[in-house]
Amino acid sequence: MTRHLITSALPYINGIKHLGNLIGSQLPADLFARYQRERGHEVLFLCATDEHGTPAELAAAKAGKPVDEYCAELHEVQARIAEGFRLSFDHFGRSSSPQNHKLTQHFAGRLFDMGLIEEVAEKQVYSNADKRYLPDRYIEGTCPNCGYDKARGDQCENCTKQLDPTDLIDPRSAISGSTDLEVRETKHLYLRQSKLRDTLDQWIDSKTGWPVLTTSIAKKWLHDGNGLQDRGITRDLDWGIPVKRGEADWPGMEGKVFYVWFDAPIEYIACAGEWAEAQGTDWERWWRTDKGADDVTYTQFMGKDNVPFHTLSFPATILGSEEPWKMVDHLKSFNYLNYDGGQFSTSQGRGIFMDQALEILPADYWRWWLLANCPETSDSEFTWEQFQQGVNKDLADVLGNFVSRVTKFCRSKFSEEVPAAGSYGPAEEALIADLQARLKRYEDLMDAREVRKSAAELRAIWVAGNEYLQSVAPWTTFKTDPDAAAAQIRLALNLINFYATLSAPFIPDAAASMRAAMHMTGDAIWPSDVQKALSELEPGHVFSVPEVLFAKITDEDREGWETRFAGGRAA
Ligand SMILES: [Zn+2]
Repeated sequence: MTRHLITSALPYINGIKHLGNLIGSQLPADLFARYQRERGHEVLFLCATDEHGTPAELAAAKAGKPVDEYCAELHEVQARIAEGFRLSFDHFGRSSSPQNHKLTQHFAGRLFDMGLIEEVAEKQVYSNADKRYLPDRYIEGTCPNCGYDKARGDQCENCTKQLDPTDLIDPRSAISGSTDLEVRETKHLYLRQSKLRDTLDQWIDSKTGWPVLTTSIAKKWLHDGNGLQDRGITRDLDWGIPVKRGEADWPGMEGKVFYVWFDAPIEYIACAGEWAEAQGTDWERWWRTDKGADDVTYTQFMGKDNVPFHTLSFPATILGSEEPWKMVDHLKSFNYLNYDGGQFSTSQGRGIFMDQALEILPADYWRWWLLANCPETSDSEFTWEQFQQGVNKDLADVLGNFVSRVTKFCRSKFSEEVPAAGSYGPAEEALIADLQARLKRYEDLMDAREVRKSAAELRAIWVAGNEYLQSVAPWTTFKTDPDAAAAQIRLALNLINFYATLSAPFIPDAAASMRAAMHMTGDAIWPSDVQKALSELEPGHVFSVPEVLFAKITDEDREGWETRFAGGRAA
């Protein structure tokens, strides 16, 4: 038995995610977690909401709520939608948890002790009325270049000129409108990533088998231009993890919090702590190599925009601590899924959002199509027409139709029991041999986290059953040799059970319906031996004809959705 630690990139708290976000990390991570569990391995699958930073504060202000309340609510919303998509997290945590506070403060203290954190004095605008430092974009004024009176401290939206807050004429706070501003000297902490460049370089070189997409992005950031830069890890905000050195106060850093990029990945570890506390168990055996985690295989799933954080920033934190933390073994990154000729966009409300998707179709339809068409080696595109075609062909025509045809035929010609007569002949043996080879390929592809190819192999396994049924044609055989037809149907009924087990990581609800129709109880056993698996339902075993597994998407449905989603929605 292997132990798999699996994490998905953390969705940001400020709203409901779109399908491009879902297929870029959470869904493929769930596929892998479900598969490894079915293979009998021990899995800890973690995800959490990323809750700190300015965008969370802005979104809360817009919603007219205190930021902690806003985050708690949005966390619940995201957790409910994740359940709707059957994302099987062992724990869905929060980066604002007490566990993450403690651990983030621990890492900062440790990195300071190792000489990797520097205190830097900076000049920053302070608003007396707001009683806070203002980030550049919270300062408004008149543009010295074009005279636009709502230019921001970082840039003028009107003429696009890059600005410093001190360039603005009549500067004022964007929060309160107050002009009572002054420039103060304030101190911030910088993580000296530049000192870790060689360590990171060697660590990345030690990783074989990472996707080229992953290593090329990491190497570019390490070596291009001036190489890896030191980075600020603190901010003058109210909402966040207070800056401390371990458990001790940090002189001069009162009222400051850690910058979100520093604390968010640490939540991967803290999330295990949240899980362990809820379960009354131990988390260190998953995360500390001195406490049992050295035999853990750790896989991270993320979109390509998150690769620098996972190959450089977070490893800098961990390697810099020189403590025995578990490091990532496989880093699986994805390109972007585009929507109908453009990009999915949260800010523009463009595309399909996770809650909307579940309003119109069950999770399995989305899971199947997104995984089978995921942006693995290049960007891929969602169009309603391709979605309709893929779902109707693969799920309704191939898998759903097979289940329906076999169970209905058996009920009408025999009964709702697995028929006993006849025995398997050359056609059945050939099918079994073919499926055994395909099963091996499917396992290898799933183990290698090859999502699209795994989906293609699974589809081919469904097709093989259909082709068998077409060629032996039990509905014809029955007229001349009912015993032979009984054996053919016995095999086909067993195939339904076999398909349910293999398909569960992709389409868990349909797989559960198939198993329920076959009156299978308990956990599915992975069918490593196809011959044996196709005799699991013995003669006399009772089954039921299930409801339609997958209704086809009609042209009318498709046109309606195309129109509904063409306008986008308010962000
Ligand atoms: Zn301007």
